[in-house]
Amino acid sequence: MTDATAPTRRRTAALALVLAIGLGLAAVAWWRNTGGRKGGDAGDAPAGQTITPVIMGTTATLKVFGERDLLAPALADARERMDRVNQRMSTWNPDSELSRFNTDGQPALRLSQSTLEVLAFGQELSAKTGGAFDVTVLPLVRLWQASAKGGAEPTDEQIAATLADVGYTLIDLRQVGGETRPDGGPGLAVRGGKRLRPGVQITLDAIAKGYAVDEAVEAMKRKGATGGLVEIGGDLRCFATGPQRERFRVHVQSPWAQGERLMTLRMPAAGGDFAVCTSGNYRRYFEIAGRRYSHIIDPRTGRPADAVPSVTVIAPTCMSADGWATALSVLGVEEGLALVEQQEGVEAMMVTGTREAPQYHYSTGFKPFVQPD
Ligand code: AMP
Ligand code: MG
Repeated sequence: MTDATAPTRRRTAALALVLAIGLGLAAVAWWRNTGGRKGGDAGDAPAGQTITPVIMGTTATLKVFGERDLLAPALADARERMDRVNQRMSTWNPDSELSRFNTDGQPALRLSQSTLEVLAFGQELSAKTGGAFDVTVLPLVRLWQASAKGGAEPTDEQIAATLADVGYTLIDLRQVGGETRPDGGPGLAVRGGKRLRPGVQITLDAIAKGYAVDEAVEAMKRKGATGGLVEIGGDLRCFATGPQRERFRVHVQSPWAQGERLMTLRMPAAGGDFAVCTSGNYRRYFEIAGRRYSHIIDPRTGRPADAVPSVTVIAPTCMSADGWATALSVLGVEEGLALVEQQEGVEAMMVTGTREAPQYHYSTGFKPFVQPD
């Protein structure tokens, strides 16, 4: 049996701004389900290899199983894919495609195919969630960050003024008339071919980590891996191919006590492929005058979304699980779960209440993933 516990990382910005990255998915384990014994015989266990590089400012875990010769190339390829996503889509990287769009003031931008794919997914999710998810939320994120540094909440007037630049309908994905990139791919233009408002800015931070995980998993599969697991900052996907008996277990951390396990999830059947993401206001937050605020903003009110301490989403892709986890944090229990019930393959658990009296709210398909005690 191999066991990987990804380390916790804290990022502390200046003054009152504390952005703490806890760990939603505390531990992951792979075991051969042989006669109820964890571990199995070393002789018939598939070869495995793990790396834990720092990507996007946080420690990732990449684990791959299969023929011994393919392990190192599969890991190298998977890691390169994740780095590439970061280079293109991070708002922390001033040279990324998105950062350049956000600062250059140009109305239109041609994007790489992968960035466009992620942006298109974000727009789709915005439409499905009535704007609870919104890639144009960045000016609000920055307003709250700047206010936190100043030690006071932004004023209603500041929030209202910033909200004018926020709204997913201010972005129009389409072919830029007559112009194509050298590789013939589509481009991005703000509606009308120019910015309707100069302040419109885009962040893919709520889904790019999930997409990076998907890219890494696909790279492992292409190299012929028979199993693998990729985790970064609470976003995880694992797979096992073929008629095997291996299963992954995923430990979901309590939102109230660091390192305390809330429950264990597992693949409902041997083999398979699924992603799990946990989002919560205990994982990343900032503080103003001693009060904690979620890093997730409700784009409809312009204020941090603090209703649900912990949201865990299971989905076929990590981008989907990542995006829904963020969206559900905004939507809350009733509206959120009602919407999840309509989504094929997406399941969710939301935890409210207190450590002493937690309340669990599940979508109907979530329970088979919960490992009985
Ligand atoms: P996650 O940790 O996946 O929930 O993503 C949160 C990050 O996405 C934040 O740090 C913001 O940059 C951005 N974000 C905040 N609120 C939203 C929202 N309502 N929709 C989309 N992205 C958001
Ligand atoms: Mg997310």
